[in-house]
Amino acid sequence: MHKFTFFPELPIQISEVPGLAPFNLRMIRDDLLPFGFGTKWRKAFGIFQYLQKNQIHKVLLWGAIHGNYLASFTCILRRSGITIDTIAYTRDPHLRSYNERLVRGHSHTISCYANRKEAHAVWLDKKKNYPGLSLPEFGIHVGQNLGLRSFWQELEKKISQSLDTSLDQKDANSPTNQKIKAILRMEIGSGATFLSALDYFKETSILVQGVMVGEKKETWISKREDLQKQLGLRTIAASEGQILEIVKENKSKIESEKDKVTKTVSFGKQTQVQKQWIYDFYRNTDILLEPIYSGMTMNPLLREIHEMQLSPSSVMQTSPIFYLHQGGQIQHLDLILEKEPR
Ligand SMILES: *Cc1c(COP(=O)(O)O)cnc(C)c1O
Repeated sequence: MHKFTFFPELPIQISEVPGLAPFNLRMIRDDLLPFGFGTKWRKAFGIFQYLQKNQIHKVLLWGAIHGNYLASFTCILRRSGITIDTIAYTRDPHLRSYNERLVRGHSHTISCYANRKEAHAVWLDKKKNYPGLSLPEFGIHVGQNLGLRSFWQELEKKISQSLDTSLDQKDANSPTNQKIKAILRMEIGSGATFLSALDYFKETSILVQGVMVGEKKETWISKREDLQKQLGLRTIAASEGQILEIVKENKSKIESEKDKVTKTVSFGKQTQVQKQWIYDFYRNTDILLEPIYSGMTMNPLLREIHEMQLSPSSVMQTSPIFYLHQGGQIQHLDLILEKEPR
């Protein structure tokens, strides 16, 4: 038991996506946790427990000033009584944002650099004599895994409960060799959450899947083992089909070749289409997606489920997908502003 009262209850809320009820999809609504910090609450709580246990009162953090990581960790740890020293970076020193304000407001000291490399160098130097815990970028640390493990424990129970109520009649005519009861899907940012889940659910009937956003699959896989060591996990590999990449819709090979040439133009266009899609999704479901993570993967996920249900041969083996919405959406409330007519 911790003596601070700041940590709120972090309930696990699983729901259907409104308007999509017949689909085999459930959403784990970590986006409903306070301030849109999402699953970062669970990771930061694990770090906090580690700090308490080891009687550490100061933390040196570094990362992107507009990101969800630095905003949530500075805020949560500061409010838990920890002294926060922050090294941040941003490409645009004049940009103001929700996350940036949280970071500045919850750091006892802060310095901000124009690029990531410089900030990293400063962190490396400062951590040599730092009288506290120096957290690597994205908070990769055993403590993070401790927080996630208790989340997975609770989540496993919740998923089982929700399967017990909905699977009874399906079980009857299901083939006997069905070992996977459910799929747990999430995005891979640093990959800490995915690797923690991969480790925890390894011997269970829940299959964990991670979706690459931004980074290339091969690049990330080359860092996997090192990440696992830093998180205190077994160095187990994900099997084929557990790490997914987003395949763009209706894109012929010729078109993607063209994209390479006119990259900036089509990138801008994509973003506009994506923004509109998030806006429409919010209007239809009351769920706000975050443009870098959930907003990138939800559209392909819905398409995939739709195709699975159209194909009669796959009906038997389709396991329900539990998608983890990790939050981060408050930074992007402008996506759902009503456009005022001028
Ligand atoms: C941090 C974050 C992630 C990625 O988590 P990792 O453990 O770094 O892979 C995904 N979505 C949101 C909203 C996040 O804030």
